[in-house]
Amino acid sequence: MAGVDQLNQVYFDGVADGQLRIQQCKDCAAYQFYPRVICKHCSSEHLSWTAASGRGQVASFTVVRRGVSAAFEAPYVIALIDLEEGVRMMSHLVDVDPEQVVTGMAVTVLFRSVGEADPQPVFTPVVAS
Ligand SMILES: [Zn+2]
Repeated sequence: MAGVDQLNQVYFDGVADGQLRIQQCKDCAAYQFYPRVICKHCSSEHLSWTAASGRGQVASFTVVRRGVSAAFEAPYVIALIDLEEGVRMMSHLVDVDPEQVVTGMAVTVLFRSVGEADPQPVFTPVVAS
């Protein structure tokens, strides 16, 4: 995995501040994640950073039932999350029974440190109240 560089420094600074930051194009207003030097929609170089709502839904997921992860104990869930802003990111779903996960499930971001690693964005189901 790539480390911190100039392009994604803002993203990692956001994570450290408990914010999920994504890029927004100043010309066509589209959002994108992961960070790029140009807009993937219109190729503009005029990009800004904005804090995403952190809300989204599960687009697809897989339950990892065996295997060793440095950070997560099986079974755990890896999911593609569609954020409200229209960008898709891959992350972990936490604090959920893997058997209860369904496509379309509403989720929200939270930031969690695993072991000695820096906090990372993960998602958890939105509990209906
Ligand atoms: Zn654009």
